[in-house]
Amino acid sequence: MGLVIIRQDNKIEMWKEALKRSASDIPVYSYLEDHPRERIRMALVWKHPSGAIKGYPNLECIASSGAGVDFLLEDKDLPTNIPITRVVDEYLAKDMSEHVIALIFSHLKNLNQYKVDQFNKIWSPLDYQRIEDLTIGIMGLGALGKVLAEDLLRFDFKVQGWSSSRKNLSGIKTFAGDKEKTAFLNTTQILVCLLPLTKETFGILNKDLFSQLPKDAHIINVARGGHLVDKDLLEMLDNGHLSGASLDVYHQEPLSTEHPFWEHSKVHMTPHYASVSDTNSVVPQILENYRRLENGQKLLNLVSKTKGY
Ligand code: NDP
Repeated sequence: MGLVIIRQDNKIEMWKEALKRSASDIPVYSYLEDHPRERIRMALVWKHPSGAIKGYPNLECIASSGAGVDFLLEDKDLPTNIPITRVVDEYLAKDMSEHVIALIFSHLKNLNQYKVDQFNKIWSPLDYQRIEDLTIGIMGLGALGKVLAEDLLRFDFKVQGWSSSRKNLSGIKTFAGDKEKTAFLNTTQILVCLLPLTKETFGILNKDLFSQLPKDAHIINVARGGHLVDKDLLEMLDNGHLSGASLDVYHQEPLSTEHPFWEHSKVHMTPHYASVSDTNSVVPQILENYRRLENGQKLLNLVSKTKGY
């Protein structure tokens, strides 16, 4: 048996070393080196070149090394009969929660606008908002959304969430499915998107959705660029309906320098780094699944290919 790492960034060696440190008995290869393809049972993958997962006759698991699997399901050459797993990790959730909470406080205290003013040498005190003035609405109450919701409660924010299936979370008002989406949006002042990118959620952050939010609502998209219709966001910022947007993810990454987001005073950008898989924390669950493959046991953190997440 063996494991191959397939990714296009410069992190292959880092993952390889982390895996070998924890399990020296497992042969681990980079897809770029010569490796015995018939021995590979698990592929650990992140934003692979299309088609690179083909040609492993004994592959039994495709493991995303992050929480998202949209990049895998988009690959038309992906072998269809092999289970996909994803990362569900305490630090991934914690880091995301800290990032979003920092953005929320920055919005409350106008820090983005003050940075713009500073560049323009403008002294212009602005009214600020308080925690009790706002309801935070989280789209997606999964591994990340749920932790964020609970962390926000500790700051005494009013928190509500929307998901496919009904959730019962203490202190959090929950909404489920399309029928309850409008009621959720009508009462949300800061909207955080933590949905998976699927056929159903592609383009969900659009003009129709924005117009159901109260005036001056703020958008935080930390899920995937494909959720957002960029031109609709720009229109709703420019016509004054939305007060601002904090974006970590984009249709194209890195974002083209021509894109209007770069110079928009109401858009706060970060370079898709809200939360990153930490090898030390994630390697044990990859190895746990590898051992489960060896022992013929059910894999953890399986993705539903029907649902797309
Ligand atoms: P999960 O799969 O754990 O949770 C997804 C949630 O979205 C679930 O509550 C699910 O509902 C809900 N949902 C899915 N489809 C719909 C729909 N059509 N309508 C309503 N609700 C829906 O995802 P994670 O929490 O692990 O990840 C969330 C997002 O964050 C992903 O897009 C991921 O790629 C992204 N991400 C971004 C990072 C960054 O650095 N920017 C880092 C890590 C992740 P139900 O529970 O009922 O199934």
